[in-house]
Amino acid sequence: MKITSALATISAFLSLAAAGQAASSGPRFYGDAPDDHHPWAVHDGNRPQPKIVTPGTFSSPEQPGKPPSDAIVLFDGTDLSKWESSNGSPAKWLVTNGVMQVAPGSGEIRTKDKFADCQLHIEWAAPQEVKGDSQGRGNSGIFLMGLLEIQVLDSYNNVTYADGHAGAYYGISPPMANAVRPPGVFQVYDIVFRRPIYKDGKPVDPGYVTVFVNGVLVQDHTMLEGPGTHMTRTKAGPFPAKGPISLQDHGNTMRFRNIWYRELPPRATDGGTDGFLTTEATLAKRKEIAASIRQDASKLKNAGDPLPEMLRLMESLVYEKEEAAMQKAEQMAVQYVDSLKKLPAEKLGSKRDEVRNMRDTFRYLAKSKIIPDSFDPKVALEQIIKDQGWDKKK
Ligand code: MG
Repeated sequence: MKITSALATISAFLSLAAAGQAASSGPRFYGDAPDDHHPWAVHDGNRPQPKIVTPGTFSSPEQPGKPPSDAIVLFDGTDLSKWESSNGSPAKWLVTNGVMQVAPGSGEIRTKDKFADCQLHIEWAAPQEVKGDSQGRGNSGIFLMGLLEIQVLDSYNNVTYADGHAGAYYGISPPMANAVRPPGVFQVYDIVFRRPIYKDGKPVDPGYVTVFVNGVLVQDHTMLEGPGTHMTRTKAGPFPAKGPISLQDHGNTMRFRNIWYRELPPRATDGGTDGFLTTEATLAKRKEIAASIRQDASKLKNAGDPLPEMLRLMESLVYEKEEAAMQKAEQMAVQYVDSLKKLPAEKLGSKRDEVRNMRDTFRYLAKSKIIPDSFDPKVALEQIIKDQGWDKKK
């Protein structure tokens, strides 16, 4: 779309918004229309706004940061109320000075709540005094959904098998870099986890994990191949719908702090209704959007000023060419053109911008195959504009 035309469309939207009429939250009749895989137009003003999240603050080795406003805080330094032992009894790890510490031999702990797709933030420190080597030194682990271990290890100047280093998807994928700080210093993990999605026993999405260690990307959307475990090659397969986050007791006095979790919206493969959808899911969503816009249009009914209702109704057709809406929109468009033709010449002049905007709307609808190029009201408006010389530069 040419800039001038785009600006006209935007200004038409702004004038509606300024008049306090129900309007979409952005331009309409603007970017490419919805198609078989996208329920929304490009730059669609009806597409929901992202939710507001107040960001937290970053951590330093000395000081934990603050979680973002929508985080589920799993450990804020005060107690283990969100955690339990693997047999359901109270968690036996120690809490002192704002950190939790493994009580070796007491076993792993897990969250009482169960989760699935997430952004997980967790900070840990290995004992300052180095004891042991390889997997015996500063070992713990974060088990996503209680299954898949993201390795926690004092990898600082410590040689071990590559798929067992800090930030490894244990037994499967080594971290792309060893980015750990020295023992005793807090390390920061940020993990994005997407569980495998199976439908009728068949994989539709293998699931992925992304990991940053101290801000360094070490797993880049790594495809899941099962839980990953010691010595055994695991196979891809379905995960449960939800599971806990578990922390490993590997016999070392590892410390943890500032653990929080953000739930992620579902992917298109998991019932999500945004993104690249199947044709079936796209059409269902488009029907839903169209119905909501038609309902909105009905609230704009105003015999003295039918334009807002007509525009909103036409907007609904972009998502679904519902017959009754199409007929009504056409009828209103014909009436609109008739009303223009009845105007005395001196009054028609004041309609220049409105008519050109309406013509642009018809052009958009024709380009999007919602009305034919030969749509009578469109042809009539093109003629009025030509006769009046309204497209010529002033
Ligand atoms: Mg481990």
